[in-house]
Amino acid sequence: MTELEKMNDPALQEYYLQLVRHYEKFQAQKLKLNMSRGIPGPDQLDLAAGLLDCINQTNYKAADGTDCRNYGGVDGLPEAKELFAQLLEAKPAEVIIGGNSSLNLMNDLIIRAMLHGLPGSETPWVKQPQVKFLCPSPGYDRHFAICEHLGIELIPIKYQHDGPDMAQVEQLAAADASIKGIWCVPKHSNPTGITYSDAVVKRLAAMPVKAPDFRIFWDNAYTVHHLTDTPPRLLNMLAECKQAGQPDRVFVFTSTSKVSLAGAGIAALAASEANINWFKKHLGIQTIGPDKLNQLRHVRFFKDRAGIEAHMRKHAAIIKPKFDLAIAIMEAELGGKNLASWSKPQGGYFISVNTLPGCAKKTVAKTAAAGVVLTSAGATFPYGRDPKDSNIRLAPTFPPLAELKQAMELFTLCIQLASVEQELE
Ligand code: PLP
Repeated sequence: MTELEKMNDPALQEYYLQLVRHYEKFQAQKLKLNMSRGIPGPDQLDLAAGLLDCINQTNYKAADGTDCRNYGGVDGLPEAKELFAQLLEAKPAEVIIGGNSSLNLMNDLIIRAMLHGLPGSETPWVKQPQVKFLCPSPGYDRHFAICEHLGIELIPIKYQHDGPDMAQVEQLAAADASIKGIWCVPKHSNPTGITYSDAVVKRLAAMPVKAPDFRIFWDNAYTVHHLTDTPPRLLNMLAECKQAGQPDRVFVFTSTSKVSLAGAGIAALAASEANINWFKKHLGIQTIGPDKLNQLRHVRFFKDRAGIEAHMRKHAAIIKPKFDLAIAIMEAELGGKNLASWSKPQGGYFISVNTLPGCAKKTVAKTAAAGVVLTSAGATFPYGRDPKDSNIRLAPTFPPLAELKQAMELFTLCIQLASVEQELE
């Protein structure tokens, strides 16, 4: 039972008027804050300042003597492949280094599958009457947008506490040859914060699928982004697929966007050698070579996985207080009222909030009308349609603590306002 259901009508009216008066005070402050996307704050970017100094006019050569200023090296410098192989738990031969964006790698990969087909495809995907993707939801809106943009049908899949509802995934993937893939953010997931359990990873690797060219899009964007010293462990999906006799089933992605510089990081892809050779063939048509100076910078700055992990502890020291503050305000303002529930992530960039059904859009609209922009309600579901109108993704990393406090106080007030208005309807 919610707190509101326990109130009689006059008490509810009085509570509503109190909330409205409080809301009007917020409106008078004319706030202008944006918490819509998971963006590192400037103090986080400053942590990577040394990245801009570790190359100069004389030290631009890679370990094997490659002049990184010139064309070439389409799949990446050997030392960059070695660094990302450590991060992706793959062999260097199973890695391709991309540009600054893993989303770019995913988008291009799916376009190539549409136009040319993948290893194992009977035809290019575009020649098939329909292509569908499984979309564990709430999930990452930009994954869904890539598919929607290409006319790929999105099938929402429910989340359990340890990953997608595998019974639903297995049943659909085994029955329908037009289902070509599944989107997964397996660690500190965007937005739920979930890390997939061993059982889920193993079932995804081994499940029978109808499409011969089915792929798991394993977006390990938050692989080293922990908020605690005891992060959850994720099984190595590449190894699990090999062990299950499905070596080509997975494409693993990551990037340093939220490790080094969000606009000037390095993205990478790991996959079986068959998938990598296919990708390399297409990549060689698209470009003569990537920005190897940036690859060299990253290798010099971080050195190895341990260097990246040490760096991520500095990020955690900056952003954990923001997560703690956001959660403390929700507990203080909403705790025990049964008007919303929220995740307590151990890593990643988001807090996932569920309002009472039917209240998410109203909450986000009210928050925006008082000057704080949040991720649109519904954005975490395929086609922007949250069947319960309940999920809201909070991105607490960018605003300074003082602004975050104001934004969270307003947000929790708007949840209460939207809930009371619904109760009064
Ligand atoms: N994947 C996930 C799950 C993300 O949350 C984000 C950014 O928020 C990205 C990918 C984007 O990564 P990149 O900057 O490497 O394109």
